[in-house]
Amino acid sequence: MTLSKKLGFGCMRLPLTDKNDDSSINQELFNRMVDIFMEKGFDYFDTSYAYHKGQSETAIRKALVERYPRKSYRICDKMPTWALTSPSDNDKFVNEMLERLGIDYFDVFFIHNINIPWLELAEKAETFEYVKKMKENGIAHKIGISFHDNSKLLEKVLEKYGEILDIVQLELNYLDWEDPDIEAHKCYDLCSEYNLDVYVMEPLKGGVIVNPPSKIKEEFEKFNPEKSIASFALRFCASLDNVKMVLSGMNTMDDLIDNCNTFTDFEKITGEEIEFLEKMADELKSNLAVPCSECGYCNDTCPQRIPIQEYFSLYNRSKNQPESNIYRNYFDKMCDEKVSAYECTNCKDCLDYCTQHIEIPDELKKVCKHFKEGFTAYRTD
Ligand code: SF4
Ligand code: SF4
Repeated sequence: MTLSKKLGFGCMRLPLTDKNDDSSINQELFNRMVDIFMEKGFDYFDTSYAYHKGQSETAIRKALVERYPRKSYRICDKMPTWALTSPSDNDKFVNEMLERLGIDYFDVFFIHNINIPWLELAEKAETFEYVKKMKENGIAHKIGISFHDNSKLLEKVLEKYGEILDIVQLELNYLDWEDPDIEAHKCYDLCSEYNLDVYVMEPLKGGVIVNPPSKIKEEFEKFNPEKSIASFALRFCASLDNVKMVLSGMNTMDDLIDNCNTFTDFEKITGEEIEFLEKMADELKSNLAVPCSECGYCNDTCPQRIPIQEYFSLYNRSKNQPESNIYRNYFDKMCDEKVSAYECTNCKDCLDYCTQHIEIPDELKKVCKHFKEGFTAYRTD
């Protein structure tokens, strides 16, 4: 048996006890998942200050730190860049993260989600210098950034800070590989040029890749009934030489076992498979109303508290099944029970947070139009 240790446990979408409460992590199930993941020979866990409203770190402490020897696992955590106001915040957040996790060093530490406004915040707070010192002092063994923006900004950041960094965590999947907004391929090449390891996030683009319309599911089934859709997506990323880690946000035991199997006796993706995935990417893109990865970063930014990602998810599912009227009922229910999408004031507070560069207020208008006027009107959009 050959094991590729490139699979990491992404702790941003852990199993919940209450699907309406992002902080209600199902600790018992998570503990069992951690045990199986470790038993199968994997050891890397990725979290952040923000995931599950801070509860992801605490859940990792309970499942991992309090139950396994420190040297048997690796933890990556991330500085909440958007919350930095001065240099003293660096210490404040790092101490809080170490305490929540119950550890005294990070195996990997990232400055979270560098984009234009947050790069400015990190620079004002001297965070790049701070993480460099963390590495010198042994508080972080490897340092890097997580990045969702385009290649132009990445080049600017690497020209300035490439020398002090070890890793760039990129959004990379076969849907975004040649996408002109995400530029995953160009960003990957840039990291290789700077001799930086690439860690992959969103290999399934949230759940977008694994929840395609039934027509695409059938094509995968025909192509290879033995392999899951997720396994193709993970192998696509892990087959790239400079990719050293692929994170998967597993929230069921079935996902976890399937992913572990993919990386045990790992098979590099073939040319024929890549050709097939390119075809599937084109079909999937033509069916996607909004390229929302359901990362949830916009969730707490909206002053109106509009559940933005839930509306986009409904919109995409409705487009995937245009014959079904059920999503219109869900939309009405959501508008009644949560904050209505019509409440958007176009304030644009959410825009900086969107990892997919979506014009959120414009898209919300389209969502409303779609569900208000019905599917016939929508199809002519
Ligand atoms: S633009 Fe709309 S969705 Fe975005 S933060 Fe403002 S009110 Fe919320
Ligand atoms: S709208 Fe953007 S920030 Fe919000 S969940 Fe979707 S991709 Fe993430």
